[in-house]
Amino acid sequence: MASYGVYLTKEKEDELRKIANALVTPGKGILAADESTGSMEKRLQSIGLENTEPNRRKYRQTLFTAGTDLGKYISGVIMFHETFYQKTDDGKPFVDVLKEQGIIPGIKVDKGVVNLTGTVGEVTTQGLDDLNARCAQYKKDGAQFAKWRCVHKISSTTPSHCALVEVAQVLARYASICQQNGLVPIVEPEILPDGDHDLARSQKITETVLSYCYRALNEHHVFLEGTLLKPNMCTAGQNSTGTRPSNAEIGLATVTALQRSVPAAVPGVVFLSGGQSEEDATKNLNAINQVSGKKPWALTFSYGRALQASALKKWGGKDEHIKDAQAILLHRAHMNGLASVGKYAGEDSKDSAASQSLFVANHAY
Ligand code: 13P
Repeated sequence: MASYGVYLTKEKEDELRKIANALVTPGKGILAADESTGSMEKRLQSIGLENTEPNRRKYRQTLFTAGTDLGKYISGVIMFHETFYQKTDDGKPFVDVLKEQGIIPGIKVDKGVVNLTGTVGEVTTQGLDDLNARCAQYKKDGAQFAKWRCVHKISSTTPSHCALVEVAQVLARYASICQQNGLVPIVEPEILPDGDHDLARSQKITETVLSYCYRALNEHHVFLEGTLLKPNMCTAGQNSTGTRPSNAEIGLATVTALQRSVPAAVPGVVFLSGGQSEEDATKNLNAINQVSGKKPWALTFSYGRALQASALKKWGGKDEHIKDAQAILLHRAHMNGLASVGKYAGEDSKDSAASQSLFVANHAY
């Protein structure tokens, strides 16, 4: 075997382990605010705002200055390149605004999905070519962790072997490059909820996808203690016609899939919300944490839509609604913080927006 099992210094390993553990501090999770400019078009359009740089900045400022409680429930924030270098109205870089609250700045480093020619509509993710230089710069500028999103689709013929191998290799290569630059890689092989599959098929495909990923991560000697996994929860497909699985069934299927495929060395699993309503995402995370049995990893959230949807709607681009929007974000973060330790006891559904599905077909980020 002509390769080295250990390629990071002890100091680098310790640094990565420390960041990864801090991101999954009990009761906290990650705010994914790394929507690309294209995704922001859809978000801002939904509240009748133009997708301009000042509007995007103002929206992110609203989130990041929500109040002193933000740091109680949010361990880290993932940003898009533009956001990472933006500042508040009074000129303070967002990175510093977060750091002052004890929140760890993170950066999305992938450059989006492209077709995997020769497959039936499957995709891979680009951005590896200049990744080393970009990671070095982001680390210098204050990032401590990174995200890279790959996407799988469930159908009667997918995911194919080709896509399974490709996604796993790309994620492993990304993770290895991040770690060499002192960034904790969040490994995200998202399986979309689109399709008519049932819960059992979602679980089986999740086990398969994750097994391919950890084989590749190990082949690339990625230091697992300095990584986090960002998977989908196992749910029935959006178009499934069977009985909708309960929160407890989703919890059990998800934990079982993880037990079968995620090494215990991985410190934490930070779920994406994947188009679930805000309340479902909270209930299902709580159910996951209430499953009894082996759970050697922290199980928490890294939500985009399920943390932001109601807050965005409330803000609506109006200054006089900023405080209310921030209160809504803090509330959702608090509820998910409780769910991340299995202590969510439900909430008054005053806010009907929180129970609305956030599903978008073939979701891009
Ligand atoms: P959602 O929680 O909106 O699915 O997005 C999280 C994310 O970061 C996807 O890459």
